[in-house]
Amino acid sequence: MPRFFVDQQPQDGVLTLTGENAHHAGRVLRLRVGEGVTLCDGAGMDFDCTVEAVEKEAVTCRVVSCHAADTEPKQSITLFMALPKGDKMEFIVQKAVELGVSRIVPYLSKNCVSRPDKTEKKVERWRKIAAEAAKQCGRGRLPEVAAVVPVAQAIVQAAQSETALFFYENERRTGLHDALAGGVRDTVSLMVGPEGGFDPAEAKAAVDAGLQSVSLGTRILRCETAPIVALAAVLYAGGNM
Ligand code: SAH
Repeated sequence: MPRFFVDQQPQDGVLTLTGENAHHAGRVLRLRVGEGVTLCDGAGMDFDCTVEAVEKEAVTCRVVSCHAADTEPKQSITLFMALPKGDKMEFIVQKAVELGVSRIVPYLSKNCVSRPDKTEKKVERWRKIAAEAAKQCGRGRLPEVAAVVPVAQAIVQAAQSETALFFYENERRTGLHDALAGGVRDTVSLMVGPEGGFDPAEAKAAVDAGLQSVSLGTRILRCETAPIVALAAVLYAGGNM
């Protein structure tokens, strides 16, 4: 069933698709009166609807039933991702959203090769990619992409989750498997470094703040591979697969 995110609540049992949504529903998918469509408020509620009218600028949908979205992971996971080179972040955002991340916080660390002065445009683009991926894969919540923050701020924020993991390529003692032996808590932070890896001072600051330094195995993964692997493993451990 086609799926759209809407930023409104039903009025008299009706939700209306407008703008790009209306174009996509009417022109691209060619939805017809009487067909079914699911509209999601992006905050965890799905509305099963029937198309009532198709116009150029607006597709009117009658709500038939509503229920909590059943596609969200059990845990709320935030990915703290050091800014990678080129357009790698686009790949990371898309895949992380498909996997079920709740929030992505891009941050600048000492060894980030890419240090753009202006990141607003990039963040806008990542938000668009996140929304498209969320729609495509059937997410019930629209994941947030935060503005780029300095590494110190990312560490403070990451430490607030109940399960807070710092993926450190130089970690030899604790593997992810052992770190999750006690289970995955409701709020999870995953912190991944840039191509150049973490500076030892950053690793120390993270551990001092309360994050657990963990290894993803004996091989060095690329900075775009690590977050995907970390997310998949945590989702598995958290009983989502
Ligand atoms: N240039 C560094 C590697 C950086 S890999 C070096 O050669 O040592 C980029 C990021 O991916 C790392 O900062 C870390 O967060 C994550 N990562 C990659 N492989 C990892 C591993 N085996 N264990 C934990 N984290 C890893």
